[in-house]
Amino acid sequence: MHNIQITGARLLDLRFPTSRESIGSDAVNKDPDYSAAYCILDTNQAGLHGYGLTFTLGRGTELCVEALRYLSRFAVGRSLEEITADFNAFSNLLTGDTQFRWLGPEKGVIHLATAALLNAVWDLYARAEGVPLWQLLAGMPVEQLLNAVDFRYISDALPREEAGELLRARAAGMEQRLERLRATGYPAYTTSVGWFGFSDEKIAALCDQALAEGWEYFKLKVGGEPASDLRRARLVRQKIGGRKLMMDANQKWDVCEAIERTRALAEADPWWMEEPTSPDDILGHARIRRETGVRIATGEHCQNRVMFKQLLQAGAIDVCQIDSCRLGGVNENIAVLLLAAKFGVPVCPHAGGVGLCEYVQHLSVFDYLRVSASLDDRVIEYVGHLHEHFTDPVRIRNGHYLLPEKPGYSAEIYPETLATYNYPQGTYWRLNP
Ligand SMILES: [Mg+2]
Repeated sequence: MHNIQITGARLLDLRFPTSRESIGSDAVNKDPDYSAAYCILDTNQAGLHGYGLTFTLGRGTELCVEALRYLSRFAVGRSLEEITADFNAFSNLLTGDTQFRWLGPEKGVIHLATAALLNAVWDLYARAEGVPLWQLLAGMPVEQLLNAVDFRYISDALPREEAGELLRARAAGMEQRLERLRATGYPAYTTSVGWFGFSDEKIAALCDQALAEGWEYFKLKVGGEPASDLRRARLVRQKIGGRKLMMDANQKWDVCEAIERTRALAEADPWWMEEPTSPDDILGHARIRRETGVRIATGEHCQNRVMFKQLLQAGAIDVCQIDSCRLGGVNENIAVLLLAAKFGVPVCPHAGGVGLCEYVQHLSVFDYLRVSASLDDRVIEYVGHLHEHFTDPVRIRNGHYLLPEKPGYSAEIYPETLATYNYPQGTYWRLNP
């Protein structure tokens, strides 16, 4: 990695028309067009680029792209080495801009944009080193990993020294863990069988198909009419037998309603109830967990490490669902992996959308190899859409993610796809406005 200079940033608004088939629909997000603010970093080296994205649901993606356009000025003109030598300092440039941070800080549109840019820089770094991102992270000395993390606002729960001790203590056995991943892959669950807008017949058929493919964990969208939720839950339970069934309410309920509805659905034995109420209601999640006895999951709308710290401190969650694009890129995801390990809470990343499956597989593999050192109660979400647009798509075998092998962070999208789904000028959107 010698004298790699970032010379430019190309930014795109990409939108896929998934709402036309109810793909991705849930009780709250009824018509998502899976979309991304997408970033290509150009360098002074022929053929070397960094590709990054943040995930959105369609309308408003242009706001993320504009925020990304502003933030990209901090990357362009810098050398990769200068960034990676003190990665947290670079991350702080993005999150701490003295005027821009008023729009957050570390939340909302500007944090989504921060994620896209940091993800692109990490992709470039891994490509320059010629390894997949998980391998780059797994091979990093403890101090270098800690230097990528912003311990500000979390050091009361996890001081830097303690994070270092945790990483050193978990180093033993990494080779055996890697062998296990090479042999079987990382366990996954499917969300593709139970979207909110699917008919009972479609759900039943998709369950049969998923069972034939070897899936052991299934997720169902709930948050509709109580009788409809229960009917759908019984249908999936009857189809999958004793395998694991998770339920996802996507923030639909008030706290008291969430308690009532979760109790009613407990009949179908949910392995977890996901996002039962507002993603910002830490104490509400704790109460729902306490009063239902059902395992509680959240995180895909948890905006930063400080919120995750409080969810963990309050005993509000049983499952920590990091999001590779809502948290501030790889850096902040490492922080939350460390926090979850300290509190002994399993991380089961949010994925699906566009590119999230490609991303989180790297984070979970790193978590297993270096941080949690465990696969107990850990599964990565999987949704079977849009992978064909990626040059290094996820590979699933028998309900497991296979280890990514190509250099980078797996988010490069084919040029033809960019030309087709660029919004609003792409060929698809010109023909189908
Ligand atoms: Mg969810």
